[in-house]
This record gives sequence, structure tokens and C-alpha cells, in this order.
Amino acid sequence: MIGTLDKAKLKERYDICIVGSGPSGMTLAAELAYSGLKIAMIESGSFKRSSLAEELKEVQSEKLPIKANSRERVVGGASSTWGGLSALLDPADLAHWPLSFDELLPYLKAAAKYHFPSLETFQNPSGTGWKFKNLADKLFVAVRPPFNFTSLVNIFNRKGVDLYTEATVAKLVSQNGRIKKVLCRSVDGQGFEVSAEIFILACGGIENSRLLLVSGLGNEYDQVGRYFMNHPKGYAGRLHLSKPLPVNNYYLPRVVGGRMVYAGLRLEEELQKEKGLLNACVQFEPDLGIFQKYAFAIWRRMPGFSTKVLTIFLPRTLRARWFADMEPRAENRVILSDKLDRFGSPLPKVVYDLSERDKATLEELFSQLRSGVERLELGKLTGTAADVLKVVKDDASHHLGGTRMGLSPQESVVNTECRVHSSENLYVVGGSVFPSAGCASPTMTMVALSIRLAEHVKSKLASKPRRTFKNQTSRTSSQKILIIGAGNRVRGDVLPVLESLPGFEITGIFARHASSLFGAHRSYDVRTMESLSVENLKGARFLYVSVPRETLAQVLSDLPGASSLEVIIDTPVLPAVKKYAHKFKRIHVAEDSVFLPWLDGLKGREVKEIECSQSVFRYHGMALVKAFGPINYGYRLGNKLYLKAGNTKVKIIEPRDYASGKLKIDGQEPDLTAIIAELIPEERGLLGEIKSTDTIVSKMGELKRVGLRRLLLAASRGEETWSLEEGLNDVRIDWLLHKVWIYLSI
Ligand SMILES: Cc1cc2nc3c(=O)[nH]c(=O)nc-3n(C[C@H](O)[C@H](O)[C@H](O)COP(=O)(O)OP(=O)(O)OC[C@H]3O[C@@H](n4cnc5c(N)ncnc54)[C@H](O)[C@@H]3O)c2cc1C
Repeated sequence: MIGTLDKAKLKERYDICIVGSGPSGMTLAAELAYSGLKIAMIESGSFKRSSLAEELKEVQSEKLPIKANSRERVVGGASSTWGGLSALLDPADLAHWPLSFDELLPYLKAAAKYHFPSLETFQNPSGTGWKFKNLADKLFVAVRPPFNFTSLVNIFNRKGVDLYTEATVAKLVSQNGRIKKVLCRSVDGQGFEVSAEIFILACGGIENSRLLLVSGLGNEYDQVGRYFMNHPKGYAGRLHLSKPLPVNNYYLPRVVGGRMVYAGLRLEEELQKEKGLLNACVQFEPDLGIFQKYAFAIWRRMPGFSTKVLTIFLPRTLRARWFADMEPRAENRVILSDKLDRFGSPLPKVVYDLSERDKATLEELFSQLRSGVERLELGKLTGTAADVLKVVKDDASHHLGGTRMGLSPQESVVNTECRVHSSENLYVVGGSVFPSAGCASPTMTMVALSIRLAEHVKSKLASKPRRTFKNQTSRTSSQKILIIGAGNRVRGDVLPVLESLPGFEITGIFARHASSLFGAHRSYDVRTMESLSVENLKGARFLYVSVPRETLAQVLSDLPGASSLEVIIDTPVLPAVKKYAHKFKRIHVAEDSVFLPWLDGLKGREVKEIECSQSVFRYHGMALVKAFGPINYGYRLGNKLYLKAGNTKVKIIEPRDYASGKLKIDGQEPDLTAIIAELIPEERGLLGEIKSTDTIVSKMGELKRVGLRRLLLAASRGEETWSLEEGLNDVRIDWLLHKVWIYLSI
């Protein structure tokens, strides 16, 4: 269940209550979702940013800043805006941890399920760097596009696994060393209580400390909020190279096997030990002069293209970007401010600064880099160590420490299981438990800790009677379906739809990289395309190929011919696909607009006029309009398309925006309640929570899932769906309207 707080829904006691739905909380929920335990996740934000959530995330800071956009109050937390970079902690960092690298290893490996790079990517980075004395390379790997943990919400389609959005936990209430309940506030300030056996805070690096401080928990030895760390960062100095970087050099971002890889530099661990220094890092970026401010945006959208440009026009001037490591110091801390939020809770205030040791590390790193550049005759490093210290201030959005992990309550807040020392049933996950910062992007380690905690919690509650859930996908097994692709379309639409169809069984999911997908009934291993065999294809009746349209033809071309296989592809369809149609029994275009439930009531009725104002994508519009008859003619005036289908006049206004769009049929908006009343329960289940403010357009995305379900059902019965010819025809009409401005059926 996904919904807002409602007393009626909160009658039951949960086994586990997770507060916060960022990477840490979502991973926990996904790991626990199929355990049969009853889980509530409480999230302060909703699926979109709101002014209230922005207001609630206010934070004050002293000395070094905490920037407003370093945290997000939405489902998925900061993974909705993060950069997706991963790095591993180094031995020097783990010296402060009560856990060894070997203890973390299985969980770091398992993080690949959540789209993190495999450990092999770090071991074999493909590319080399300079051979500096006293400096070691530090490897960073990014998944493109960055994985948004909101994509795991399918798990909340499972009974007993509930996500409450727009629900802010204000306080935890304890009795005799056990947390009894959390007190939450809904958007209108109403109070609710959630009870559970076990509570887990996953509210992010600052809010975890804040909630413990507000609740007066775990702070017997004045440890909560202390040892706060970040990776303060800034640009200083330029490296002017005497010759271009060799092509296989990895100091600038390169795309390797679909992952973006690059290295920075840090002090050799021997030197760190000898001089009592830390693990700061310097990275390089091409100096693009006036284009600099657009560079990140371009690179984010087109990493492959940007890398190619870099290898053709190898830059000679690189900007140096410095990241400090912060020694864990008790005086760097999260405290409570005198200012209250709108629910009367004190805001958090972060007081932190670089220590002399943090600064000395940056100075040494600068000096080692300068002498290394001279010794290797690479060129010239401009600037000074003092320049570095002046700029290294920016918040890197890596909020670490505050509820640090340790062996004793006198010097830490949680134990090695992430349990608050003084509480039997309260756990904390995320960066706040880190005992040191190092210079690694921290989220992969956070996710590894969440996977580890989920394992612990499952074993702790092992004796509890579990709910058993029927696995609908195996009720009947006649329609075996394989999927190629594991992107948003598969996660958000295809998987929930297939799981709602009792006759379908997903027998394999393949994509470029191995990962996992999380459905309402089970999780699915996503295997690499290389492992897709003829045997896999032989057993299946359907193959759903959901890949970017530019790569669809290539994927179909690479597949072995399978004359009994029916292939389902997404819209819009490119003509190149036609060439491969003969290899398969049939091609269905998954044009869900044709099966939209609100079209049912219109069939056989004389409809004079339809106006789709920002409520359809144009190529879906072509298919939708055909429900009223073949398209006779059409023309375009700016962003408006005028069509005549049968006797019906249709106006489509672009661009599509479900938040503000409108749909009118003969001047009237179709009644959402009446449409929902006609749906069968499995179809209704695809719509999620319906709010009183919802309209047919605000729910169009969900209604299209019902359309897809009907289309797949028709395909399974051998009935008419939407053929490749129809799909190509829609695209052709759309193309003519856009390029020639006019279409005439002849
Ligand atoms: C712009 C940006 C770029 C980044 N890039 C990288 C990167 O490249 N690599 C990397 O490793 N990390 C990066 N990070 C950091 C990364 O996003 C965080 O480490 C990660 O999101 C932390 O996950 P979390 O689940 O612990 O916390 P969060 O993501 O902060 O999630 C916490 C959740 O708890 C909710 N919450 C808070 N308080 C309450 C409450 N009282 N009641 C209910 N819910 C509450 C919030 O709404 C939020 O959804 C970046 C961050 C930002 C902002």
C-alpha cells in the first residue's frame, strides 16, 4: 500500500517501522519486503517536491555551510538528485571502524543489486594513471543515469508492506529501553502513531541525529550528533600539461562498459601514517573556460558523447578539485537549534569546521602533487596550498557521523549491528553511523550497511510467525515471458502489470548490467545480455523488449530467430525494426493508449469533439484517436494538432503535463470515479491511492498501466492488439504533421 497517513490504515502493529525512504531506507525495505514481516515506511516527502517538504528540511549551520540542496525531502531521498558516483573506503579509513573490509565485502558485492558497480569494476578500471611517488590513485565509478531509489516502490504493492508519504516523524517514544511507537504528523499537522517491534531510522546524516536528540534517546554519554563529517570541497589551481593526456589515462571521466570511471589522487597510506595525515583527494576536470558552467549538464545527459569529445580534443589545462577528509572530532556536531519547525520540533544546526590535521593533509597533497608534476615533467601546477585551504568549504552533500558506530556507548551511539546501544529495538542506518569519512563517495557503503542490517533484523525476528503471500505469478504458468531491459518503463509499468496478470510467468530479465528488480511478489535477478541463451528464448511465448528506441533494431538483430516467439515492443517505433519482424512469430506494439479504460464507454457513441490539452504524448495521441475511426486528415499550428478521425474532431495541445493537463470529450471531463467503478480489482490495484483531487489526467499514467494490462491479456488470448504496421503508421502520421504540418489520408 502506498498512501498518506490515515487512522483507518494504521490499526495494525507492524513488525518493522523504517523512517525515511532514501537509499538507506529503501534498500532495507526491499531486502525485507519478501520476508513475510509487516513493514511500514514513513516518509516525510511525497513523490514530488512540495513547499512544505522544502520548509521542513531547513537546517542551520555554523563555520562550514550545509547547502539547501544537499538533502531532498521526497520519496527516494537525495537519490532523486544525486550524482551516482561510487567509491570504496580505503584501509586507512576502515582503521576507525569496528568492522573490517572483509566483513563488509559480501554486502558491498550485494549492492550491485541496487545498480552499484561490481567490485571487479574497481579492481580492473581499464586505463592507467601517472606514476607519482607518495600519491595513490582513487577510483570513482558512476552508473549512468544515477539510480533513483524511488524505482523500488513496486515492493509496496505487496500486502503488508506499506509506504506512508507526507508523514513526518516528530518523535520516538520509549519505555523501559524499548521504543514503543513513533509520533508522526501529516501535512495538515494531524498527529498519528505507528507501533512496531523494531524501529529503524534512515532519515539521512543530519536528521538521524536530530530525531534522537529531540526524542532524548541514545544520548546517555552525550554522543548523539558528535563526530559529524563531510567532504568539504572546492576548486584551486590548474594543471597546465606540456603534452596531452594519453588516451587510456583515467584522470578524466571515461565511459567503460556503460559505466563512467575516473580516478583522483590521494596520499599514499604509508605517508599518511608516517605524517599522521588523512585521506583527502584531488580530482581533475578539463578547463572549459566560458563553457564550464554548462559542462556538467552536457556530460550528465550525454556522458558517452562528452567522453568522445574529450578524447578527440584532449584538453591541456585541467582544473583541480579538492575534497577534504575530516578527522572525526567530537566538537563537529549536529545540535538542536532554538528555531522550531511548523510542527514545533527544533531545527537541526550543524557546527563543524576543518581541523589543523584536515588542513595539513590538503597542504601535503598539494605539495606532493606539485613535486610529482615537476618530477614527471608533466607541465605546471599553478596556485598554492593556501589557495586550496581558502576554497575547500563547499558542502559535498556527504553528511556523515553524528550517530557513529562503535564498541562502547561512551564513544559511540550504535553498535556494530547499527543498534542504538541503550535501546533493544532501535536501529540507525545511513552515513550518520560512519566512524570515518575518507574520501569515498559514501552511498554504496551505506547501502551495504542496510543490506547487512536487513539480514540481522530478519534473524532477530526469525521466531515471529510470518505472513505467507500467494505468489500470483506462479498460479498458472502457461504464458512464459522474458524481458529485455530494466529501465523505468519495466520497473514502473511492465513489472507491476505482469504481476497483476495471473497467467503470466516472468522467466528471465536481461539488461546491459546485472542488477535486481523488485516486484510485489518477489525480487528478480537481472542478468546481463551476454547470458541470454537460445534455451531461454525457446521456453518463452513472449519477449518484451523495452530498450531505448535507437537500440531496439540492434537488439532485435542480435537475437537469434525464434519463429514461435511473440515480441512486444514499446512506442514510438522506428522503421528500422521492420527488417527484423520476420525472425519472430508476431510483433505487438505495447500501445497502451488504445486500451485505455475510459475509451470503453465511448465506443459506439457519437463523439463530436475531443480536446487533449497537455494530456497525451503526440504519438500516443495518433493511436488513441483511431478509437474513433481512421484518421482522415490532420494539420498542425504551432503546438496544436487538429485531427479528424471518423466523425470526431480532435485537438491535441502539447507538451504533455499530467499535473496540469485537461481532457474534454464533447466539452465534459470524463468522470474518474465512474471509470474506476468499472474496473476489476486487479486493474484497480494498478492505480495506487486515489485522492479526492485526482482527475482522469492526473491518473493517466496509472490508467495506461490498465491499458497495457488489457493489451497483454488480448495478446495472450491471441486477439488483436496493436500491430507493427499500426505502430509505424502512427509514427508516420506524427512525423508528417511535425515536418510537413499536414496529413491527408489517401
Ligand atoms: C546533489 C547531490 C549529489 C550527490 N552525489 C553523490 C554521489 O555521486 N555519490 C554518493 O555516494 N553520494 C552522493 N550524494 C549523497 C547521497 O545522495 C546520500 O549519501 C544518500 O542519499 C543518503 O541516503 P539516505 O537514505 O541515508 O538519506 P537521504 O537520501 O537523505 O534520505 C533520507 C530520507 O528521510 C526522509 N526524512 C527525513 N526526516 C524525516 C522524518 N522526520 N520523518 C520521515 N521522513 C524523514 C527524507 O525525506 C528522505 O527521503 C549526493 C547528494 C546530493 C544532494
